[in-house]
Amino acid sequence: MASHQESSALLSTAGPRKTAASTLVFISLAITTAVALSAAAAFSFLFFSSSSSPSPHSTEALSSRPLSKLKHPVVLIISSDGFRFGYQFKTDLPNINRLIRNGTAAELGLIPVFPTLTFPNHYSIVTGLYPPYHGIINNYFTDPIDGQVFNMGSHEPKWWLGEPLWETVSNHGLKASTYFWPGSEVHKGSWNCPSNYCMPYNESVPFEERVDTVLSYFDLPSDQIPSFMTLYFEDPDHQGHQYGPDDVRITNAVVEIDALMGRLIRGMEERGVFQDVNIILLGDHGMAGTCDKRVIALDDLAEWVKIPKEWVQSYTPLLSIRPPPGYSTSDIVAKMNEGLESGRVGNGEFLRVYLKEDLPSRLHYSDSYRIPPIVGLVGEGFTVKQTRSSGQECGGAHGYDNAFFSMRTIFIAHGPRFARGRKVPSFENVQIYNMVTRILKIDGASNNGSVSFADAVVLPTHSNLE
Ligand code: AMP
Ligand code: ZN
Ligand code: ZN
Repeated sequence: MASHQESSALLSTAGPRKTAASTLVFISLAITTAVALSAAAAFSFLFFSSSSSPSPHSTEALSSRPLSKLKHPVVLIISSDGFRFGYQFKTDLPNINRLIRNGTAAELGLIPVFPTLTFPNHYSIVTGLYPPYHGIINNYFTDPIDGQVFNMGSHEPKWWLGEPLWETVSNHGLKASTYFWPGSEVHKGSWNCPSNYCMPYNESVPFEERVDTVLSYFDLPSDQIPSFMTLYFEDPDHQGHQYGPDDVRITNAVVEIDALMGRLIRGMEERGVFQDVNIILLGDHGMAGTCDKRVIALDDLAEWVKIPKEWVQSYTPLLSIRPPPGYSTSDIVAKMNEGLESGRVGNGEFLRVYLKEDLPSRLHYSDSYRIPPIVGLVGEGFTVKQTRSSGQECGGAHGYDNAFFSMRTIFIAHGPRFARGRKVPSFENVQIYNMVTRILKIDGASNNGSVSFADAVVLPTHSNLE
């Protein structure tokens, strides 16, 4: 299953039905994406070969730095929810900048998987799988076979496919710890969410307490220190939804995340382990500004086809529709698109509807019975509702096409297996699983990332070079 598809995949154009206005919107998206990605591809050789270490020690650019205190490699993945790529330039963030300066960062951000939602993305990061293969195809959905409902509190193993890193790590007899991560409370294989090492999700735990608990693991006897750790913060996603990505409260939230990184770095320095730990600071997706004047109402399509709310599994920014048995899904798609392209539906050109098997293949969003048969791609910053309302509320949303630049997030990696001062081209988050298994020197489960990509980002150890 392993493949390194993101560049060619992202260059492919949208699916088969194309007419007038919507064609324009989606073609311009494809062109923008193609230009950005071909530039990234063209420069990738340059990045990988020459923008590396400014260090005077030439061997440092070639291979990892030895551990000074820890007895085994450690990877700490930190997720700052909704940390849109670019937020790091809103103001001076001394601690995050220190990690960037002395580490390896995705120069134009990390590309989330589609749909650009919290649960699908967090679980892709830890499994290396696109959502149809790890099973978490949305934050909420209904299993069409047994009618059971998945939500963000569902911990039954039946939902969670693939092999998350904490399971891979414990299968190899190593320790893992999770200070929150979607899926971490699910008992799977050798992972049974051990108390003290696996925190049950509770959003009211202060962020500082989360950092201090992670630091306390480094005070344990060496064989008790987890090889793999996660740490999660809900911000700046909360503020992004409420106020949109340009609000001053986003800047305040990222300043707080930066202060938490400062607390973490200080705590690690006091323990003499900062240079030994591979820290990967990332987000799950970005954020786009929304406003009620950018609404598309399904009721406005009634002249072409009626879409009752009972058919709609999720509205926005991922529109997914499962009509009852007996309806022709291709007829419904054709009629919806006819209405949307008619010029008589408000903002109709910013929604295009597909049979899931006709979605652009670069989205990797068809190969699961859990995905409803009809999926809509919503224009950036637009909202789909059942009924047009008179509200004028503005805020933020994510879940859109992962080719939108606004959906990108950050990837900043610092530690002995990452070159200092290096920028790499953007890549999809399914590549991270293999980076972690390479650092921990364990065999991973098969996944959608490529080992050669991981090897191009992670520094080899001296023993690899010999
Ligand atoms: P989203 O609206 O897709 O951005 O989801 C973000 C929200 O997901 C957070 O604000 C939390 O409320 C929720 N969340 C994040 N991690 C977890 C978790 N491990 N368990 C349950 N809910 C979570
Ligand atoms: Zn999120
Ligand atoms: Zn969110």
